[in-house]
Amino acid sequence: MRVGRTIKFYQPVKHKLYPETTALEPNASSHAGPVASQSTAMTSTYPTKRPTDAAHLEDEPDLPRELLNLPWIDIHNHAHTLSWEDRERYALAGCEGMVMVSSGYHWTPYKPVRAGDVRYLWDDAVNRRAAIERNHFFEAALGLGVHTGVRIEDPDDLIDAMDAYCELDEVVAVGETGVTPSQHVEAWDVDEQRAIVQAQMELADKHDLPVILHTPNTTTDSKRSYRPEVGVPGYEKNTALGVEPVLDGENPQLEAVKLDVQAARDAGLAEERVVASHADGNNTDYLMTETECYLSYTIGHSWLVGVDAADVADAIDEYGPDRIMVDTDCANVLRTDPFALKRAIFELYRYGIDVDDIRQVVYENPREVFGLGT
Ligand SMILES: [Zn+2]
Repeated sequence: MRVGRTIKFYQPVKHKLYPETTALEPNASSHAGPVASQSTAMTSTYPTKRPTDAAHLEDEPDLPRELLNLPWIDIHNHAHTLSWEDRERYALAGCEGMVMVSSGYHWTPYKPVRAGDVRYLWDDAVNRRAAIERNHFFEAALGLGVHTGVRIEDPDDLIDAMDAYCELDEVVAVGETGVTPSQHVEAWDVDEQRAIVQAQMELADKHDLPVILHTPNTTTDSKRSYRPEVGVPGYEKNTALGVEPVLDGENPQLEAVKLDVQAARDAGLAEERVVASHADGNNTDYLMTETECYLSYTIGHSWLVGVDAADVADAIDEYGPDRIMVDTDCANVLRTDPFALKRAIFELYRYGIDVDDIRQVVYENPREVFGLGT
């Protein structure tokens, strides 16, 4: 049903207002001006001096103006680290709700990380959440988790503490977490990472919360590499401090996702309670065909990960909208765009996706899985 839908806008349009039959009649040149060859400009209902595009338009598309006010929910961002003005941009663009994820090592200054450092991140988010909500009117909920991008010295302390945080009404998700192929500054053994991921999944299952997975992306081919000592402009990270990968197979990014899914199974967490954020071409087929997980495509920093609305549209075409979401992952350490999700709504339509399917992926699926929205 979706095949060929996009073609209709590119079909040639017929001339309506300047038909050749009337143009050839004598004495019909009152609008044509002095140039005799402008035979098609003789019966225009437009007062323009000569034909403009408007005279040739026919079958103008029936634009879905409801997209202008379509509510949307961003299930993965770090908006509490953004500026006030960036959070306001979410509100101005119609964001109805968001999950502010507090788990990342980007904001813990000491490496390796200790449990207390991550607790500080959680508490900062808990402390500021209500004020953010009052300022901007969207529903601001929290995702709390243990990220594995940097080794944590005493992770069991965090798991013990997390149980009580999961009781909070404002905590709607565990994460972002998931096995990471390589760490910053100091490596973390795969088995230990996996154990921490599974322990969080067990807590999520106990509290009936979904888990946001940080699935590693395969990077896009760039024309050149930057000097390692200056890193990637737009990503505030000392990339030279990355250590040797702990997963070094042929496709470590996909292997990491498979370990996460196995951890969910071992934890007894239903796969439909797992939302794989940063879905991409490397993991979509596996997640769609071999699991029941949701896939969330991160489009707030497409310049870095290479995923944009076209990938979302392709996934909807191939698998339908039932298990697809879109998130921004906006954060202050990245060049990110708070308008990205709103832009994607229009882009999905341009790419031929139905309004109902767009609404499902940007609003209804997030609402159902995370219990947000009205
Ligand atoms: Zn994130």
